[in-house]
Amino acid sequence: MSSKLVVGNWKMYPTLSDSLILASTFKRSLEDIQGVEVVLAPPTAWLVPIVESWRHKPQHVSLAAQNVWPNDQGAYTGEVSAYMLKNIVQYAIVGHSERRAYAGEDNDLVHQKMQACLQWGIKPILCVGENKKMIDAQGNFDDYQLSKVTEQLLEGIAAAKQDNFDKVTVAYEPVWAISANQSATVATPEYTLQVISKLKERLIEKFGAGPSQLVRFIYGGSITSSTATDFFRHPEIEGALVGGASVKAQDFLKVCQIAAKTS
Ligand code: PEP
Repeated sequence: MSSKLVVGNWKMYPTLSDSLILASTFKRSLEDIQGVEVVLAPPTAWLVPIVESWRHKPQHVSLAAQNVWPNDQGAYTGEVSAYMLKNIVQYAIVGHSERRAYAGEDNDLVHQKMQACLQWGIKPILCVGENKKMIDAQGNFDDYQLSKVTEQLLEGIAAAKQDNFDKVTVAYEPVWAISANQSATVATPEYTLQVISKLKERLIEKFGAGPSQLVRFIYGGSITSSTATDFFRHPEIEGALVGGASVKAQDFLKVCQIAAKTS
């Protein structure tokens, strides 16, 4: 079985000094946690100071951008392109639900961002997810919600050539389960497995089994060290995108440890 992927999305939480402390703690502690691939996504402005403070990093630890712009250079105030980030990060989060909601990103822009990442050697983490629960208590799917998530997936991934599918990670993140602090609103592993299985079916219908099996599927939505084991024990859930808990150093390290043990 291959290693799980644990991505820490620091969102817009840590200041520069917080970020340098987190980065140094993770670098030191992760040396001892092998058998898991860890990706840290600090705010863009702190990427270079982190790279400089690290000098070298453990091989299984990488950096990600939380967002990229698809054009290489030009009049795009406030944006940073995949081209500009290409020697700084190994991964980029693309199409996060917070960007879809607050920055109006649509599937077309997400497609362009995926293309730019792959062109410049950055591995995209494509976020997809429904706004409202799509499986009811009887196990029936809401076809509308499923079709919206399928569109996000197929339009995003169409930016990749099929022999590039091994560079693509899909983060299935039900939007209603992100930043949820009441356990009642958190997605269960069973729910997640059912959705991932449907999405894989759609991928296979469109691109065939060979390329589709190269795509890695991870889960995101209020993962903490208390819930990680339940998700990671399923081989179909190949890792996690962790938001809030990723800036709590001890909790995030525990998630990484659990992932290493269940890989
Ligand atoms: C996320 O930002 O992608 C995320 C899953 O956040 P949280 O873990 O806080 O729900």
